[in-house]
Amino acid sequence: MNAVTQDLMKRFSVNEHCSSFIGGESVNPSGAGEDIPVISPITEQQISLLREASIEEVDTAVRTARDAFENGPWRHMSVDARKKVMLQIQDVLLSNADELAYLESINAGLAMGYVKGFHVVRTGWNFEFFAEVASQATGEAYTQTKPYISIVTREPVGVSALIGPWNAPLALCSMKIASCIAFGNTCVLKPSEFTPLSLRRVVELIHETDIPKGVVNLVNGRGHVTGDALVSHPEVDVVSFTGGTKTGAMIAARSGEGLKPVALELGGKSANIIAASANIERALDGAILGIYSNNGQQCLAGSRILVERSIADEFIEKFVARSKNIKVGDPMDAATEIGPVCYQAHMDRVLSFVDVAKQDGGELLTGGKRDERHETGLYLEPTAVIAKSNEAQVCQEEIFGPFATFLIYDHLDEALAIANDSEFGLVGYIWSDHLPTVMKASQEMRAGTIWVNTPMTRELRAPFGGYKKSGIGRDSAKDCLQFFTEEKTTTIPTETFPMAKWGASD
Ligand code: NDP
Repeated sequence: MNAVTQDLMKRFSVNEHCSSFIGGESVNPSGAGEDIPVISPITEQQISLLREASIEEVDTAVRTARDAFENGPWRHMSVDARKKVMLQIQDVLLSNADELAYLESINAGLAMGYVKGFHVVRTGWNFEFFAEVASQATGEAYTQTKPYISIVTREPVGVSALIGPWNAPLALCSMKIASCIAFGNTCVLKPSEFTPLSLRRVVELIHETDIPKGVVNLVNGRGHVTGDALVSHPEVDVVSFTGGTKTGAMIAARSGEGLKPVALELGGKSANIIAASANIERALDGAILGIYSNNGQQCLAGSRILVERSIADEFIEKFVARSKNIKVGDPMDAATEIGPVCYQAHMDRVLSFVDVAKQDGGELLTGGKRDERHETGLYLEPTAVIAKSNEAQVCQEEIFGPFATFLIYDHLDEALAIANDSEFGLVGYIWSDHLPTVMKASQEMRAGTIWVNTPMTRELRAPFGGYKKSGIGRDSAKDCLQFFTEEKTTTIPTETFPMAKWGASD
């Protein structure tokens, strides 16, 4: 740990306990739940103790959200009044950007400068963006069937369960909160048990604004305890989940028992096609960012890099040289490009894929072990392997770390077949300056988002979500409006019309 980190640790204290936050108050746990150490991947030391919410505590949180929805002012407020609060939230979050970035960094291992400049800004922007979406939302009117007018309005859906992963807690969960409450709903958020710190502070900060109590509640705990109690609670109306595919399937089944709509943003194993017609230097920069940024822990990573044979040797050689030169280190250090992976068991899992790759006939190109230059911290050497075929496990399973897998192809059709030979379909990348190649790839890759000659670029207005096992539903202005509201049709006659008078005659 360097001096900068030590200084930051003195400046921003981390609460000894990380409990739930319900109805505008920090919860004093009943003792019914377990205490779970929160470990920093930088120091590998305990930095807080998570007080797990029991089933009873989850019940209190959901009932508080229900009461705020039914009896509180939030859903009845004018959209402009709600927007004012949403903008206050943006302000308070941005005013505390250093602290939020620090908490995310010490807990999730993400580079602090990157978190502050990108994730915290996005966290604030989510509230402004969805306030604007809500304020621009329109209804519909149908006048074709005379003498009636039928108007279609949207109403908040009620109480939402919001469940998020550990790889980018601030950016992902703030989007869930903002898109949910903008339309007048109330919510209970459950962050990952591994990374509860930044979101706990976000919810506290939200309560420094004029937000009514009970609109935003947070429960902390493990998925199979706290998460399950939340999803299956009868007073929860909808479930919005981002996480792994297996968990997503369990949550969908659980939600199905209560006929609750569910939005699932799940895993990926996305193809990054590098055609010989690409600007090779830019494709190289993009491929490196595509797999290694966010410490390689991204659902949208370009983790299967498919290179056209005529440029493969040169491209892979340069990729390996650059990988060896990436600055792996303390995420509080401004020069760091890759920080530690999030927790020990995850590090072990990522590293286990080196042997898996070899067993399937693949070859290790670089990395493949813990970065031994650091005495403490879950640092991995940026790793790349070349696989024998797309059937290899490293081509089919999401590894979710700084671990690139290469395949070589001869023709675009072959690359597209490989790209689509996956149970996932979150995103696809194509690097080429040849328009027909770009168009064919973008049309034929079976994925929810295609990035052409660019690494990941999120446009909040446009749908984001996966084909196949990468999810159900989309995130976007329009999709969130649909998910977090109910449509209501009201039909009114515009004039008095003759009505049958049953039972009126003798
Ligand atoms: P998990 O699926 O393990 O967990 C996600 C969340 O669900 C956590 O808060 C977890 O709690 C909770 N959870 C686990 N089991 C249950 C349950 N039975 N009921 C309710 N909640 C439960 O995912 P990870 O946290 O490991 O995140 C990594 C995954 O997320 C990757 O597959 C990645 O691709 C995906 N992801 C997808 C994104 C997208 O937009 N498509 C974006 C980012 C990540 P806890 O951890 O406390 O047990």
